[in-house]
Amino acid sequence: MSQARLASCIPLPLEHRTLVSVVEKAKDWALMHGVGMRDRKHFTKDAIQIAPFVLLPSPFPKTEFTKAIELQPILNELMHKVAHDDEFLTNTLQNALQVDEFTANLFDIWVKVRDEGMAQPISLGMLRSDIMLESRCPHTENQCAKHTPYCSWKQVEINSIASGFGHLGPTLSLGLFRSDYLMQNPDSNSIKQVEFNTVASSFGALSSYLRDMTRYILRQLGQAELLKNMPENRALSGLCSGITEAYDLFGVPGSVVLFVVEEVSYNICDQRFHEFEISEKRPDIMIYRRTLTEIYEEATLNDKKQLILDGHTVAVVYYRSGYEPAQYPTAKEWDARLRVERSTSIKCPSIHYQLAGTKKVQQALAAPGVLEKFMGAGAATGRVRDIFTGLYSLDFDESGERAVDMALADAERFVLKPQREGGGNNLYGADVREALLRMRHSRERAAYILMERILPPLVSGYVVRPGAAVPPPLTDLVSELGIFGVIIGTKDKIYCNRQAGHMLRTKLADANEGGVAAGLGALDSPFLL
Ligand code: ADP
Ligand code: MG
Ligand code: MG
Repeated sequence: MSQARLASCIPLPLEHRTLVSVVEKAKDWALMHGVGMRDRKHFTKDAIQIAPFVLLPSPFPKTEFTKAIELQPILNELMHKVAHDDEFLTNTLQNALQVDEFTANLFDIWVKVRDEGMAQPISLGMLRSDIMLESRCPHTENQCAKHTPYCSWKQVEINSIASGFGHLGPTLSLGLFRSDYLMQNPDSNSIKQVEFNTVASSFGALSSYLRDMTRYILRQLGQAELLKNMPENRALSGLCSGITEAYDLFGVPGSVVLFVVEEVSYNICDQRFHEFEISEKRPDIMIYRRTLTEIYEEATLNDKKQLILDGHTVAVVYYRSGYEPAQYPTAKEWDARLRVERSTSIKCPSIHYQLAGTKKVQQALAAPGVLEKFMGAGAATGRVRDIFTGLYSLDFDESGERAVDMALADAERFVLKPQREGGGNNLYGADVREALLRMRHSRERAAYILMERILPPLVSGYVVRPGAAVPPPLTDLVSELGIFGVIIGTKDKIYCNRQAGHMLRTKLADANEGGVAAGLGALDSPFLL
């Protein structure tokens, strides 16, 4: 199936010599400014390599970008309310808990600390709402029999004003559309939410720097006038100010911040830049990095339930690990998590925030009447609903049965998602079918949700990867935009709530997933049309 297309910011392909030259410049810029990661294959702490990136900024419609930015505080508040609604979380997760041990372990910790009485009512959310563009069907209902995102109009290539009509595709003869529609229009795309991350939302730092690299490349190509189309990105400072504001609310002089990290941090630059930024702005704040295993060995709770590490009270705990089963190899790591959750430290995220970020909750929010329960019936609710795509429960009941039938009838239209984070866990296409046939009569399926597959418009671009041949080939890509948000509050009071920058991640159009840390996607910057 062919998809809609957005034109690149400048006509492509680039001439061979120019391409080789700017790729070399970009790689050096990236290395010298820390747009890097550690090498998974040949691991050493003494070297970093470039993070995969897209050479030129990928197009993104300005109106949809602005919409995403505007919606972020609304989504932050929604997730804050969800995280504090005990009954909703319990009801929503109950079936999944029966069959998903990892989520059940998180849930048990939540129930324990809640029943003991939360020692710290304040939570820090450093969130990221991930969205993709979906090309709207230009047909009216009665013109288009299917009227779904999958109808044949997607064979049309969409062209931007920025690059003229260079991409007018071979399918002009389709005849279902008007010519003015073909001339552009980026605004025929609307954003749809892929997921909402409440734990370890990464790439704020690298994305902030990557924007500068992309601007450098555009200047090298003599395209300085295009820089105005690249929105500011203050993700790093925005996210770090969440940590320092939470620190100040904690209010204990000499207390410290603890980053919970993996055994090996491949995404070290992104994490360290947060530390450098905080150290620069707040020299009074010391940051410790510890794995859950080390926390088990080294951190204690005193009689006031303060978390003590190396003789210091921990004010804020920022999890960059702890979101997937492999990060809890033994009972010790679960004990460590429980100890942290029991403490007075402000957690990012606290355990109920992590539960609120599960796929199951995302699906439940899309059910009729649920958004209204949290947000009322105003215009904001409609705007949020607008970015949801089809989300279906696979619980072992009548509606779950219907969803299974629907997916079996047309598996390509769906993504099957377990309650997991970190990329690489979802099933697509034939695997959806196979998994549903296997789980059809098993309660196991309640651990998954079914989601309509979003087909974003294609963009052409060059992906630069460490170790790959130069120049890279010109390929068809699709992008996923993440908007960061920071929210600090208790059940009843919100101290701060704001949008905090963005990241764009781009992958080969035919790849199912595009996690950068997982080695599939590439960092990118939006070029607003
Ligand atoms: P995770 O928490 O593991 O990142 P996601 O829900 O973000 O899980 O899924 C991982 C990736 O799978 C996304 O980054 C995206 O590339 C792809 N994906 C997820 N849901 C959809 C969807 N509904 N349509 C198209 N692609 C999707
Ligand atoms: Mg996620
Ligand atoms: Mg994701």
